Amino acid sequence: MIFKPQSYKIADRPMQGFIDVDEINNYLATANTDKGYVREVIARSLDKNRLTLEETAALVKTTDPELIEEIKDGARKLKEKVYGNRIVLFAPLYVGNLCTNDCQYCGFRTSNKSAVRTTLEKNQLIKEVEALEDNGQKRLILVFGEHPKYNAEFIAETARTVYSIKKGKGEIRRVNINAAPMDIEGFRTVSQAGIGTYQVFQETYHPEMYKIYHKGGKKTDYAYRLTALDRAQEAGLDDVGIGALFGLYNWQFEALSLVRHTNHLEACYNVGPHTISFPRIKDASDINIDGKYFVNDNEFTRLVAILRLAVPYTGLILTARENAQIRKEVMRFGVSQIDGGTKIELGAYSGSGCEQNLDKEQFRINDNRALSEVIDELLSDDYLPSFCTACYRLGRTGEHFMEFSVPGFIKRFCSPNAILTLAEYLEDYAPLHVFDKGWLMIEKNLSTLNGEANVPEIRKRLERIKQGERDIYF
Ligand code: SAM
Ligand code: SF4
Repeated sequence: MIFKPQSYKIADRPMQGFIDVDEINNYLATANTDKGYVREVIARSLDKNRLTLEETAALVKTTDPELIEEIKDGARKLKEKVYGNRIVLFAPLYVGNLCTNDCQYCGFRTSNKSAVRTTLEKNQLIKEVEALEDNGQKRLILVFGEHPKYNAEFIAETARTVYSIKKGKGEIRRVNINAAPMDIEGFRTVSQAGIGTYQVFQETYHPEMYKIYHKGGKKTDYAYRLTALDRAQEAGLDDVGIGALFGLYNWQFEALSLVRHTNHLEACYNVGPHTISFPRIKDASDINIDGKYFVNDNEFTRLVAILRLAVPYTGLILTARENAQIRKEVMRFGVSQIDGGTKIELGAYSGSGCEQNLDKEQFRINDNRALSEVIDELLSDDYLPSFCTACYRLGRTGEHFMEFSVPGFIKRFCSPNAILTLAEYLEDYAPLHVFDKGWLMIEKNLSTLNGEANVPEIRKRLERIKQGERDIYF
């Protein structure tokens, strides 16, 4: 992997701001969209180089339909090259929606008096996790509002509880967190609970726009949020996720800012974010957001393809905020993780399959399918669904290890682990038609691995899984 040296107006220093609005706008205003240059940029990305802001600007400002197709085609190829055909699956678990902030786009904001406020009690948490395990989930992201009750110790304790809950052959092997920014000590506390990724989305990287949307509470502090993941790194939590909420401001500005954030973390800590999220604003209880910056489906597809090319080694997460059709479409351009079987109303996994109720949710989700239906479609589309959690459990994270940069790693580790975790899912949780389809997919993938992975050893382990052994990984 080649890092092209980059220098920006604001030098990268740990725990200091790095967004210069004029600089980003200048890259956008002066973008070189000549055919030759845009093609050069796509080729550089296909050589697995991270792109500079100047190069990313060329991609976002391109309007030529032929070049846009080439960008999408490049993203498709790069995804194949770097990630293969795996899609990692997870589910969100909302733990509590008390919140002291007043984010104008969110159903949990303080000024929304119709929101029904709840925090899962321990027995409810257990029921939720058991229900998720009964569906076959292995990876969760715990989601919290921002409230003194949800301090680092509370979040750490919740993660520990989740790890301890085992129902039948089920267990949660990776707990990620999406919660408010913490101080260094707080990040240390949650890190010690053995969490996977800690996500904090900047929402909008434009400081003035940020002020407009964040009217009350601690989240009004743009700079504290911007440097949150620096503090995580300082605390030794080197697996972090960034994101922007698309629809708050110009998507092209946010795309460059996400790349800038990636560069900043690399410059200061030698390791970029593990994942980037790019949620689009969805309807929420009582919100009234001016649609001026909403991102349409065409722009959204371009955005995903451009992010894929700009940061070849960073996982891209697409959630059930989007409907099944658009998920299917953009998955081809570089998404590496999706959620399945998602419910975001507190207590809904163990409840009675409740109808969506905006007063109890943060926003409306648009893909309500069960996990088995999502897996069924992935298999039909020739993806290899994966519940793998091997890397972080073996300490293969952060600076010392970048899974996608080690040649041959995917074929030796990721694909075999995807196959083993899919086999567990098929044996324990899949409906019959998915079971049959899944085993065919496993055979198909084994045949493509021949010569590049130890297929006889994978077959032996598959036999052990059929015999009832679980949690076997490379
Ligand atoms: N309270 C924490 C925070 O704000 O960082 C935890 C995250 S919040 C529960 C998860 C994310 O959901 C937010 O960072 C935001 O990007 C996103 N979100 C909020 N309102 C949304 C909406 N109406 N549509 C889509 N995503 C939304
Ligand atoms: Fe609270 Fe997070 Fe919603 Fe803002 S986005 S109101 S901080 S839950």
